[in-house]
Amino acid sequence: MLKWDDPVGFIKGTTPPVRKAWNSLGIQTVGDLLLTLPRRYDDYSKIASIRDALAGQVVTVRGKVTACGKLPTFRRRLQMIRAKITDGTGFISATFFNQPWLLNELTIGREVVFSGKVSSHLRYGKSMQNPIWEPAEQHAVAVGKLAPVYPLTGSLAQKTFRRLVLAGLNDLQVPSDPLGTKILVRYDLFDLSRAVKAIHEPQDLNDAEQGRRRLAFEELLTYQLAFGLARQQANQAGAPIVPFDQRFAKRFVEQLPFSLTDDQKRAAWVAMQDMQTDKPMRRLLQGDVGSGKTVVAAFLVAHVQRAGLSAAILVPTDILARQHAATLQRLFASHLVPMLLITRTERSWSCGKEHKSLSNAEVEELIAKGHLIVLGTHALLHNRRLPEDLGLAIVDEQHRFGVEQREALIVSARSDGRVPHFLSMTATPIPRSLALTLYGDLEVSVIRQKPAGRLPVKTTVCLGEERDQAYEAIREAVKKGERAFVVCALIDPSDELGVKSATDEYKRLSAGPLTGLRIGLLHGRLKQNEKEATMADFAEGRLDVLVTTAVIEVGVDVPQATVIAIEGAERFGMAQLHQFRGRVGRSTMPSRCFLMTDSTGDSLDRLNIVASVTDGFLLAEEDFKLRGGGNPLGTEQSGRLMFQAARMSDLTLMAAAREEARNLLAADPNFDHQPHWKDKITKLQQTAHLE
Ligand code: ADP
Ligand code: MG
Repeated sequence: MLKWDDPVGFIKGTTPPVRKAWNSLGIQTVGDLLLTLPRRYDDYSKIASIRDALAGQVVTVRGKVTACGKLPTFRRRLQMIRAKITDGTGFISATFFNQPWLLNELTIGREVVFSGKVSSHLRYGKSMQNPIWEPAEQHAVAVGKLAPVYPLTGSLAQKTFRRLVLAGLNDLQVPSDPLGTKILVRYDLFDLSRAVKAIHEPQDLNDAEQGRRRLAFEELLTYQLAFGLARQQANQAGAPIVPFDQRFAKRFVEQLPFSLTDDQKRAAWVAMQDMQTDKPMRRLLQGDVGSGKTVVAAFLVAHVQRAGLSAAILVPTDILARQHAATLQRLFASHLVPMLLITRTERSWSCGKEHKSLSNAEVEELIAKGHLIVLGTHALLHNRRLPEDLGLAIVDEQHRFGVEQREALIVSARSDGRVPHFLSMTATPIPRSLALTLYGDLEVSVIRQKPAGRLPVKTTVCLGEERDQAYEAIREAVKKGERAFVVCALIDPSDELGVKSATDEYKRLSAGPLTGLRIGLLHGRLKQNEKEATMADFAEGRLDVLVTTAVIEVGVDVPQATVIAIEGAERFGMAQLHQFRGRVGRSTMPSRCFLMTDSTGDSLDRLNIVASVTDGFLLAEEDFKLRGGGNPLGTEQSGRLMFQAARMSDLTLMAAAREEARNLLAADPNFDHQPHWKDKITKLQQTAHLE
């Protein structure tokens, strides 16, 4: 009998090449193999007569081989074999690629089963391409039932993969279930052995789903335990205390050019409360685009500076880094705050109105001294130390970063082992239990209110010729001294940064619909100083229209911009479109957004939803409903797969996992009595970093 932790090579029929293929997929043990989830199931359960098998259907047919031979091909490396079978009701042929041995298998007169999609060929009649096939007398591996289709099989054929998974499953000694009976009963979960059987050999789709649910729960629980443990360790390590200074706070707020909304005040206040303790803050600040998160960050950073400590702010783009540097200096007003700006192409220092470029050595020196603000893009994290007196780390537009990057910002800076406070800011709200699952033990604050006098951005979908409305609106806005963005989607996939799309559109608009206006072009290929100059020209009103790519998606703040036209809108996701729309409507002037497209159908539905729902929180819900179900969890957020079984829609399961993790940690804080979990968490910590 096989044990769960036996090497995968112990499964009968595993040849060295198979073992190698598995190892390259990260499959080491029998358990690893059995936890590999199918991407979908094909229903091969219906055996059809050949006469009833229609083109387009996926069916299983059974018959005797009447002919089998090689076909001539024009490509030397390609070998094709065609076999024909009959069941008395009709004939169907199957073509196979590069499987020459089938000539000896599909011998005339042998009874076989083919499963696959039927197509109809003018000359050859009904046929299938690369169907799954089996001798009719053999125990069926896949044909005639729900057949799992695995996402990762490496160099192995689906059929081989399936056969070996089943061999492993049949020979498996019932593993003990790490979840324990209490939890299994409480959440009505399959035990481990039933779950893996349900996944690889399901009775029906519901059975398969129950199996997946069980594995998802364990994944989620493991993450929550790891998060909980990390949190516990951080609490033990402690954080530098940032005292609240009422008089300072009052002065800071009074010299702002606007009065804070209640939600802004509350968010700042709550975070300030966190930072006054020696427990590291872990907070997620959600607020729709334009709700004014930057000033909250500025308020906290000013306090950190006042306490004699450093703060670091990580942002996704160069443009945003520069803008934030300027905005922060403006918001700090009379408080002089030294700030380092670090991007791929720039290293500079500013304080109040002073500004100068720095050499690498000068940067190092300033960081070593500490007591400053470091602001920058990913470049901030590359081979660079952060100040050792880091009191607060902020990530703006956190959805643009991976967990590793966020992690790099908060660990290993301080030499005294303490952990800086941490604030994550985002404009894409997600359901609470999802946030807690993806971002660990973060507390969540929300800014719901927009600053006074803001109007919703009137949004119009323009199909084809209707684009003219958008150009008309841009001309009118410019007449009133306002400005406009035209955003271009990537059209040609080889045009990675959308440079071509934007450049073409720039030429077209300059020569045609927007001729006479002062138009600028901004994309990621421009040199840093060109980008800066163009952005400054637009911000300061020397340009009327900015034709650009997704580089302005996040953060860009030019309050006089009141129109945004998005070309090829169907190519963007709903959350992304909302982000773009957030580039306008940042003042009390009425603003408009045009979603321009040539495509109809599903994508038009999405655009209409974006047009009718202008509240980012509601839109996020709609978005979530539309695509939540099928998505595996964690890919989008961090750019790589954190979960195999769990999905975005497992919200109840997420809450349950969190609850159980808390119970388990309370009962046994270091997992001294639960080696299984200790093991799993250690493994997880080796492959992922946790906040
Ligand atoms: P986001 O939350 O999208 O990061 P920002 O912080 O960039 O938003 O703020 C958007 C705009 O609103 C900025 O121009 C900012 O100066 C302005 N703003 C922020 N708070 C207020 C407020 N309470 N009243 C008026 N304007 C505000
Ligand atoms: Mg912002």
